[in-house]
Amino acid sequence: MKKLIVGNWKMNMTMAETKVLVSDIAQIIGENPKILDKSDFLVCPPFIYIQELSELCRAREILLGSQDCSIHENGAHTGEISAQMLRDTGCEYVITGHSERRQYNNETDSLVHQKAQMAYKHDLKAIICVGESNKQREENHQKEIIKEQLLNSVPKEANADNTVIAYEPIWAIGTGKTASPDDVKEMHSFIRSLLEEQYDTGKEMRILYGGSMKADNAKELLSTPHVDGGLIGGASLKAAEFVAIAQNA
Ligand code: PEP
Repeated sequence: MKKLIVGNWKMNMTMAETKVLVSDIAQIIGENPKILDKSDFLVCPPFIYIQELSELCRAREILLGSQDCSIHENGAHTGEISAQMLRDTGCEYVITGHSERRQYNNETDSLVHQKAQMAYKHDLKAIICVGESNKQREENHQKEIIKEQLLNSVPKEANADNTVIAYEPIWAIGTGKTASPDDVKEMHSFIRSLLEEQYDTGKEMRILYGGSMKADNAKELLSTPHVDGGLIGGASLKAAEFVAIAQNA
């Protein structure tokens, strides 16, 4: 299985900066084309830049996704962006249930589930995020938390084509701390066994690790069993660092 290397740009950059970043990523990949045999690259810019980047990404074989979508089809939902609009502007993926949205926008498993269903309806692949807090890990509740989030956030229609799971321990996001390779191995194996139990294609569903992944820890993380790629925040804003993560895979 090819690794999926995902850049979550969050609320960063100007339009001009995003174009330079995509061009720089493409140039580095162009100089090392073999990298595409082992990895797919996906970038998730802020909504407002998606349409403008869609041609550039398509031409350079970089996949495009969004950081969220509405649970609604259309209508009176001021400020919302629908899955259909995202598909229309060139997205193939949508991140749902990122811990920042769960924490700061009160997104529940049920909401994440509805967003994933809306993504499927409009032919978008859902990257469904799960992760435990520092307190939950300290109390050794991480497995039950992840199980509950998975069972309640991932729709029954999920399969290896329409869904990617991202395991992102909240305490590792943007903090410079990563989970130890043993912890990642244990959690990803646990997630794999749950997916196999619940979904016909659970064996092939990609499971990404996210949380302070960068070029110098990527090799260890990406060679851990059942780690099929990375969801990368900070390190995805620098082209060389982002591509180097895949080079180390
Ligand atoms: C993320 O935002 O999903 C993330 C993993 O961020 P960072 O790589 O900066 O920890």
